[in-house]
Amino acid sequence: MPNIGKNFFKRKIISRNEIPIHINGHKITIKREDEIDKWVSGNKYRKLKYIFLNLNKNRINKLLSFGGAYSNHLVALAKAGNLYDLKTIGIIRGKEWEKKYLFNPSLSFCKKNNMDLYFVSREEYRLYQKGITSKKIINSNSKLKIIGEGGKCKEAIKGCKEILTASDKDFDTLCVSVGTGSTISGVIESSNSNQFVLGFLSLKHKKMKKEISKNTSRVNWKLIDDYIFKGYARVNEELINFINDFYKEYKIPLDPIYNSKMVFGIFDMIKKNKWRWGKNILVINSGGLQGVEGMNLKLEERGCETIIF
Ligand SMILES: *Cc1c(COP(=O)(O)O)cnc(C)c1O
Repeated sequence: MPNIGKNFFKRKIISRNEIPIHINGHKITIKREDEIDKWVSGNKYRKLKYIFLNLNKNRINKLLSFGGAYSNHLVALAKAGNLYDLKTIGIIRGKEWEKKYLFNPSLSFCKKNNMDLYFVSREEYRLYQKGITSKKIINSNSKLKIIGEGGKCKEAIKGCKEILTASDKDFDTLCVSVGTGSTISGVIESSNSNQFVLGFLSLKHKKMKKEISKNTSRVNWKLIDDYIFKGYARVNEELINFINDFYKEYKIPLDPIYNSKMVFGIFDMIKKNKWRWGKNILVINSGGLQGVEGMNLKLEERGCETIIF
């Protein structure tokens, strides 16, 4: 994609829907939000959009956020910050990355895009997230905005209301993967009342239902936590095989942290006759493909099968 600098978030983006996949009388259509950009990918584009469009109005010249060593959100923030000539700061969970971040594709991308990286222990990270931020990192004169882990904020929900378009109203069931819950909140808010939204959790989070209820008064949605695969960012051979088979069959890449688990779950429920929702299903592919390179390095280290795209 050409460097379009400060017009990056001014574009109105409508992602294309793939030709439907038919299984057991169900029609599954995948919305290719992953095609927005490799780095400011899928829902991360949607979540950052209104932060960047309001930088001048809010007199912000620095953005700080948090994430793990493979964070899709930090990668997106770093690239967007670079396009807008804006200072970005990433607080990275895991002190151990300090000495080897150049061997991590996501972190080295952040660095190349001029993000300042601070590596903190897991305990420190928790304190940072509670708002206890170090003066060493934050210069009190600068007009800094702190964005929650994973890009969680009000602007994020507003941006995610733009994923669905008028032509998507014919689908009866909408599927979204869930991390912080911002994306699904936007999708629920912009759905029609005759549509049902299913959220697939990528990590155990007992309060997620409550969190999402704070963002919407709508009730046409439900969370599914049967396809977490033992934890956030955990994968097994079955999932990697599913990703590779799916790619060979449909030429659609699914990331290993979020979308592959969701699509695995949808197929699994339909095949086992456990699917209780509509037959005309829209699945939002929320991107995250930048993480594949890092995941493959980990899989290679363990001597496992890797992802083929
Ligand atoms: C961050 C992310 C999610 C989770 O989105 P939330 O708004 O945090 O729920 C889902 N899919 C991908 C690919 C992501 O990077």
